Amino acid sequence: MTNLEERNLFERIPAPLLSWYEANKRDLPWRKNPTPYEVWVSEIMLQQTRVEAVREYYTRFIAALPSVEALAACEEEKLLKLWEGLGYYSRVRNMQKAAKTIVIEYGGKFPEEIETLKTLAGIGSYTAGAIASIAFGKATAAVDGNVFRVIARLTENSTVISDLKYRKYLETELSKIYPKGRESQFTQSLFELGALVCKPLSPACERCPLAKLCKANENGSQRLFPVLPVKKAKREQDVFVFLIETKEGFCIRRRESGVLKGMNEFPSHVSYGESEKEVLNGWGVYAFTEKKRQKFTHIFTHIKWNITCVWVEADGAPFDTYHLEEIEADISLPTAFKQCLKMIEKDKIGE
Ligand code: SF4
Repeated sequence: MTNLEERNLFERIPAPLLSWYEANKRDLPWRKNPTPYEVWVSEIMLQQTRVEAVREYYTRFIAALPSVEALAACEEEKLLKLWEGLGYYSRVRNMQKAAKTIVIEYGGKFPEEIETLKTLAGIGSYTAGAIASIAFGKATAAVDGNVFRVIARLTENSTVISDLKYRKYLETELSKIYPKGRESQFTQSLFELGALVCKPLSPACERCPLAKLCKANENGSQRLFPVLPVKKAKREQDVFVFLIETKEGFCIRRRESGVLKGMNEFPSHVSYGESEKEVLNGWGVYAFTEKKRQKFTHIFTHIKWNITCVWVEADGAPFDTYHLEEIEADISLPTAFKQCLKMIEKDKIGE
């Protein structure tokens, strides 16, 4: 498709798509009151997480931290606890950094311009485009994987989905077709079409408002687009996670390096052949009795952990200790360690 043909096609998108959106949009909590803060929180949560999973987190987060000022002032442990289960904790840390900047440098008022938004921590081109269009009514396209997929199919474009230069080009071209006064809805309608109709594995072309424009639909080539990057094999690591239980509770510490740096953990150790005893002795734990063990796997973006979780009872604690109830109520634990927590909980209820 030439650039001119593509432009002509793009211009025919807004009318049918907006009519479809008004009739089919989902009732999502962040759509009720699309302030910049609420759009921002929802968009950051929706990165890497499904809409259905985000609903509950979003409602809880907004109830606890209803404003940018509240987010800026929130204690770190409380913030991480609110984010617990969503993963990719750098997202919420960056949000707090950005919230502080908004409070200190902009008097608590969200900047409206896309270029200023992009200077805030954790806000890239996509999130800035979403906030500027949805909350401020600017003609600024936000191209995420969903939007990329719709456009790649409409135009049968075989550019690989990770190509940032093409994303930038799409942002520019789509921003030109934003209908005046409907900017907020147009961004959301593109997201919604990708999420509800033009799905990755099962596009429902028979009920798509853009079916008549769509090259992939015309040629039956939907499954060939978008072109995905070749996946690299994940690096694997064998990891011991120790549930060190003393009279005062279970040991928890902060990770100092590697994945999940800065997060709480049950003391863990990447194994290069050391025995469990050697690792425990290295922390000063000499007298201990093994109570239980279990194996899990946990997959991060680039690494797979083969976890051996070992529960030991020990006389002394090499790290801070917390009772189970405290851990459940106040300590944020990444999902990789939640599996180990479940091991304790199951034992307590006698499973
Ligand atoms: S017609 Fe099918 S492939 Fe084309 S945009 Fe609609 S759902 Fe996607």
